[in-house]
Amino acid sequence: MRKPIPKKLPRLASIVLVSMIINGIKKLYKDRLYDEPKICPKCGCKDYIRKGKQHRLFCRLITDKGPEDIYVYLKQYKCKRCNHRYASNGPFYPSISYGAPIVDTVLHLASTNPYNKVEILLMEMGIQVDRDTVKRWVILFKRRVIKAAGIWADKKPLGVNMLHLLFGVENVKK
Ligand SMILES: [Zn+2]
Repeated sequence: MRKPIPKKLPRLASIVLVSMIINGIKKLYKDRLYDEPKICPKCGCKDYIRKGKQHRLFCRLITDKGPEDIYVYLKQYKCKRCNHRYASNGPFYPSISYGAPIVDTVLHLASTNPYNKVEILLMEMGIQVDRDTVKRWVILFKRRVIKAAGIWADKKPLGVNMLHLLFGVENVKK
């Protein structure tokens, strides 16, 4: 497996698109605290006490000043019955390192592009994900890819879909 190499923005990348996506990701996700208590995953108890927070990598951006890691915070809880410590899920799929909106975007692109092309398309958006990671996610989310292909099939423009996947909005104004 290749080691992730810090990437630079491609020379032909659209500055407007890149800055819109980078600023959008920072505004919406950077240092955001996710405090969504759930039942204790060990014993099912609903009673907890809040106990600190952990930070977790959401994604790595490729900025004109070099790579920039975006983190979010996940509130931590301690079960009142069994003392088990657990954290809020936050914007993540189980056992996937990057944030779910990034994963959704990757899967959407991978439904119509080869892995290396997905890596390049993401670079052009200022997001770093290596082709090996793309491949791993596609295999993990095969069923989700079929769903994502449906988004493409309803003939909405690609840009709108990207916005929807990354930020949950339908157009640039939002
Ligand atoms: Zn418990």
